[in-house]
Amino acid sequence: MVKVRPRVPIPKRPIDERIRDFNEVVIGYDKKQAIEEANRCLQCPSKPCVKGCPIGVDIPRFIKFIRNHEFEKAYRVLIEKCPMPAITGRVCPQERQCEKECILAKLGQPIAIGALKRFISDWAQAQGLEKVSQEEKSRIQRGRKIAVVGSGPSGIVVALDLARLGYEVTMFEALHKPGGVLVYGIPEFRLPKKIVDEELKYLEELGVEIKLGIVVGRTITLYQLLDEYDAVFIGTGASHPRFLNIPGENLNNIYSANEFLVRVNLMKAYMFPIYDTPIHVGKRTAIIGAGNTAMDAARTAVRLGANEVYVLYRRTRREMPARLEEIINAEEEGVKFIFLVQPIEFIGSGKVESVKLMKMKLGGPDHTGRPKPIPTGDIIEFPTDVVINAIGFHPNPLIPRTTPKLKTDNKGRIMTDQFGRTSIKRVYAGGDVVIGEGTVIEAMGQGRKVAKTIHLDLLRS
Ligand code: FAD
Repeated sequence: MVKVRPRVPIPKRPIDERIRDFNEVVIGYDKKQAIEEANRCLQCPSKPCVKGCPIGVDIPRFIKFIRNHEFEKAYRVLIEKCPMPAITGRVCPQERQCEKECILAKLGQPIAIGALKRFISDWAQAQGLEKVSQEEKSRIQRGRKIAVVGSGPSGIVVALDLARLGYEVTMFEALHKPGGVLVYGIPEFRLPKKIVDEELKYLEELGVEIKLGIVVGRTITLYQLLDEYDAVFIGTGASHPRFLNIPGENLNNIYSANEFLVRVNLMKAYMFPIYDTPIHVGKRTAIIGAGNTAMDAARTAVRLGANEVYVLYRRTRREMPARLEEIINAEEEGVKFIFLVQPIEFIGSGKVESVKLMKMKLGGPDHTGRPKPIPTGDIIEFPTDVVINAIGFHPNPLIPRTTPKLKTDNKGRIMTDQFGRTSIKRVYAGGDVVIGEGTVIEAMGQGRKVAKTIHLDLLRS
């Protein structure tokens, strides 16, 4: 058996310090650590890791440049394919993508690709490197007009790619800040907003105009945009909470994860009373669900001072959809997990006081390939004074509702062909509003594909 050097540990802040604030948990590699980790890379000629990356970053090439201390070159390789690497380096589920395919994963620990990506992007931000050269900017001739609705990862990539090709791009965002889930969903301790703001400067560099506080479907209709623009991209995401539809769900102190995280992240409830946004976490907070949203809600509740935080999940740890790193962080920070339980009723008078849980067991695979949870008939009552429902989201329904002829499926997702064209000519869609619930990099990958379609369609028209 080949002996493989272990991965250079990725430094994190001490647990008892980090649970008291909202500052970033992961510190990331310094130069020496990054070079040492890059030196573990086998530089496989077949590049299996690249196949695991949804947007095809040439991973061995950027790692080779790190190894040679050529950081700017490494950065240029990264941004050829990945427009916002400081973000994806922090939030991608690498263990299910590039790192899963790394040959070293089979022999021991894979290369810490996410951490290296983050290192090089943070280095570039610190140097103030621009993503587009002055020369390239001066060559761009602005021509036809594109409207991008939604400023999350899918919309950002569509805007960047088309602006780079010379289109005049205007972005319409309902909220008062651009960035989508990167700003209102993922907490500061995982993705600092100054990092997001820095990455969003790329839009400015390319002259993309961002109109904030415009709710398409209400302030202006999609058909009005079509009158003014040559093409419209819809990237409005999926932030409409799914409910459990069980008795007692309307009791006070039951939040949707979206409401809870928006209050904390966007409305800065964690800085109360400097920001006037109240939030209540109670003594015992129960989170329902096991994805990234659930982990974010649980770790936020810990930081806001809940004495006990429980995650209630109907399958087991092995099936949890959250990034492994965030599950480990949550465990380290004292979040407790109760597996194989499904809420069936909330109990309380006015406010929630407890939740009735059906004990579950796992059966054969369901339509997602995961083992199906089956009720056992055993019921327990779990006392809690705050509940955060993080079982998932539906696509935002406003635009389909106000746009006759825009086809959606039975889950409310906008239907497109494989290139991102919707049922209305010159209207395209991508990201979570099409996928349902995806990841940042999947939304970016879709944005890139759709930008290409828009360009080719407009060249032909
Ligand atoms: P969004 O990011 O949802 O952006 C849509 C934008 O459209 C929003 O800004 C919204 O305000 C705007 N909008 C909506 N309707 C309108 C309208 N009518 N008019 C104008 N603007 C409108 N993925 C990962 O890869 N890693 C993670 O760690 C991770 N953690 C997550 C944590 C949380 C709490 C959540 C909720 C999601 C997480 N995800 C994660 C998923 C990921 O963030 C999404 O898949 C991704 O952001 C989808 O991008 P998008 O562009 O489709 O939409």
